[in-house]
Amino acid sequence: MMNLIDLPYEINALDPIISARTIEFHHGKHLQAYVDNLNKLVAGTPFEAKPLEDIVKTSTGAIFNNAGQILNHNLYFTQFCKGGAPLAEGALKAQIERQWGSVEAFKAEFETKGVGLFGSGWVWLSAQEDGSLVITQEPNAGNPVTRGLKPLLTFDVWEHAYYLDYQNRRAAHLSALWKIVNWKVIESRYNR
Ligand code: MN
Repeated sequence: MMNLIDLPYEINALDPIISARTIEFHHGKHLQAYVDNLNKLVAGTPFEAKPLEDIVKTSTGAIFNNAGQILNHNLYFTQFCKGGAPLAEGALKAQIERQWGSVEAFKAEFETKGVGLFGSGWVWLSAQEDGSLVITQEPNAGNPVTRGLKPLLTFDVWEHAYYLDYQNRRAAHLSALWKIVNWKVIESRYNR
């Protein structure tokens, strides 16, 4: 039985980049629907007792779509905080600078891949087993765990994530999201 995650901040904490109205729909309606759907779909199946990540790795079709969207949104909503928290000196920052030359160059590529993703989906920063980093685009409910990657950071490019606040201006929304990323969370995902 999956439950809707609690947000680690007040509903208006990310305003105006993600307004309270968007959170109300995105967390309270869209994510809640994925949770309700998955609970119905797995009832009485072997998936019922499995951890969410295992369901994402081993399912297909409607179960995968709903489980993937729950995992994606759980990672998404818990990576933000009011005002953001900076990327500190440490292993993750050093690896980003090693691969991209600068944090700004990394952010630029991440935004470009988010803007360039056709239709609905997610752009991800993930770690490989050797600690190297990779940016990937995933359509629809995709999550990098299905390819053996450890997901660290994600921007949701489904229109429901930004349409109320930015309408069709996906690029403006993605570039503003950096202001609310809680890099402490991203660093702890990388170091775990
Ligand atoms: Mn979403």
